Amino acid sequence: MPQQASSTPLAPILPSDFVRFACARQGCHCNGTNRTHFGRVLAVGRNRRSSRSPGVAYDDVVVKVQQIVGKSTPDNGPIPPMLQPDAAELFILEGSNSYVLPPAVAFCTDKITMHYGFESDWNASDKPVDGYRYYIRQIISSDGRPRPVHRSHAIRGELELLTFTRQNIINNLDTAQPLPAGVTHRPRVISFPFLTFIDGFGLYRNMYRSLMGFYIIPAGLSYTDRNRRTNVFPITLGPHGSNLADVVKAIGPRMY
Ligand SMILES: [Zn+2]
Repeated sequence: MPQQASSTPLAPILPSDFVRFACARQGCHCNGTNRTHFGRVLAVGRNRRSSRSPGVAYDDVVVKVQQIVGKSTPDNGPIPPMLQPDAAELFILEGSNSYVLPPAVAFCTDKITMHYGFESDWNASDKPVDGYRYYIRQIISSDGRPRPVHRSHAIRGELELLTFTRQNIINNLDTAQPLPAGVTHRPRVISFPFLTFIDGFGLYRNMYRSLMGFYIIPAGLSYTDRNRRTNVFPITLGPHGSNLADVVKAIGPRMY
């Protein structure tokens, strides 16, 4: 979590949170100030992109927001007619990312539930259990085709919140928060985003003695640098015949 956006000191907005936001597109109904768009935070960070977004300068802290649309939201044009959603269903628009400044973003007070089980093998119910104002079960790709949300990439921040809990992350990383009882100092943190991948290869150029390689690549590299062999760091090898779960268990705790 390299950066966070905060509209109030007690409520940092984190990746995967649902928000209402104003965009900076000219002629948009939000006029650049009314937070009428629905969205989901994909990431928060310093703007070091070579392409520019309106109203955003180099090095500003920006919120990367993926747009969400529904029958009852102000943005309902991109919904394919064959979907026939009810008033509670919203859709994620893939590739519709906006980069906006933190003041343009506020928590969405309506409860929105992600229904990852839709059309899945583990919980193929049509809708999530009650207790939501809106639900999301499909994502619409840039060519207009819908697919279940479990077939989309998970937001890294969402997985971290699930694993470590929101309160734990806020207590440890948000310097605006008071220290929890019994804690005298907050750990200093260096953010080092990286990609991990696991790849099997044959020891003798065949798969009779296969080894499992575990690697990391720093995530903040350009596409060209990420593809250089020198930027791929092997962590360990899973010996032939070893249990993959055991190898992950051995190195996992040292990686977070
Ligand atoms: Zn707008």
